[in-house]
Amino acid sequence: MQQPAIPETPQKTNLLNLTPPAAEQALRAFMNERGEQPFRVSQIVRHLWHAPLAEFSEMTTLPAGLREALAEKFSMPRLELSLRQKSADGTEKFLFRLADGEFIETVAIPERDRMTLCISSQAGCALRCAFCATGAMGFSRNLETFEIVGQVRELALLDSPIRATNIVFMGMGEPLMNWKAVDPTLTILNSPAGIGIGARHITMSTVGVLPGIVALGERPEQFRLAISVHAPNDGLRQELMPINTKYPLASVIDAAKVFDRRVTFEYVMLGGVNDKVEHAEQLAELARDCRAFVNLIPLHPGGAGDFRPSTRSEIAAFERKLRSSGVEVAVRKSRGIDIAAACGQLRVERENRRPPVPA
Ligand code: SAH
Repeated sequence: MQQPAIPETPQKTNLLNLTPPAAEQALRAFMNERGEQPFRVSQIVRHLWHAPLAEFSEMTTLPAGLREALAEKFSMPRLELSLRQKSADGTEKFLFRLADGEFIETVAIPERDRMTLCISSQAGCALRCAFCATGAMGFSRNLETFEIVGQVRELALLDSPIRATNIVFMGMGEPLMNWKAVDPTLTILNSPAGIGIGARHITMSTVGVLPGIVALGERPEQFRLAISVHAPNDGLRQELMPINTKYPLASVIDAAKVFDRRVTFEYVMLGGVNDKVEHAEQLAELARDCRAFVNLIPLHPGGAGDFRPSTRSEIAAFERKLRSSGVEVAVRKSRGIDIAAACGQLRVERENRRPPVPA
């Protein structure tokens, strides 16, 4: 006797997980099947990223029947805005709740004619850098492509839209440990059919995950690379960044050397820990070795561990030492201190304070 076939519930295709060319292909096949006009495809793709719309029903340039059919076959999942805070300096911080209840953060930093978005690539982080709030919470999971680039889309969907001109992967997580989702994210961010941000305005920040640096270097676009160095020798770096056991400083510097674009070193200034003259001398040597630009980062209070920020004069002395050793260096302006805008801090606040303030 034959068993009746159980019809499978057809899964909707999440268009926001696809690069623009892949989304076009999926939509083209669908349009062909329905005998629709092919020019509709680029109309729809435009509303995924470039001129985003929240729902298919809002794509009023399309016939109503087509909009309904699209909604049955495809999805464009939202990230739920759970909390929004604005700093006195204009920096804004957003906490998103994902479908499985995980929380991730996005920070929007306005500066002159720029709007830099600091986006998350993982929920939590496995790396446990001693001073970082995200590290202290541990790793939950990798984000999917639509959850990473969705942070940019969600801000563009606000009533007063925030449109990114620059992207830094300096939110929660280690982007190069989630290359599978970050790789297509870069395509969507950069592609003119996607969000259309120039590659030089997109910066990957990493502790030095070597396979990821190679993969990024193999992409033809001029994406920027920032390496979280934070200590100029293995002994100290090991203490601050456990990942140094797997990817020791020398191997990270070598990877920076062969990376075909200029690299930035990030160096968080920890008072009395990594801010002495000998550290500046060692760091200068590493930076010269791979012609890196050094960004000194004042420690945001409210991270992990009981570090104190280096004082202004300690930072200034460190900066002078680097400069006199022939290294290009800048001190990063701290933004959003009053809203705990450093890596992982809003989620930590959110978890310690219940009930949350609604968005
Ligand atoms: N995992 C990646 C990207 C996320 S963190 C990386 O480590 O590069 C982005 C940057 O913020 C890193 O340089 C990180 O070391 C730094 N950071 C983390 N906590 C900080 C704090 N409390 N104050 C200042 N910078 C911090």
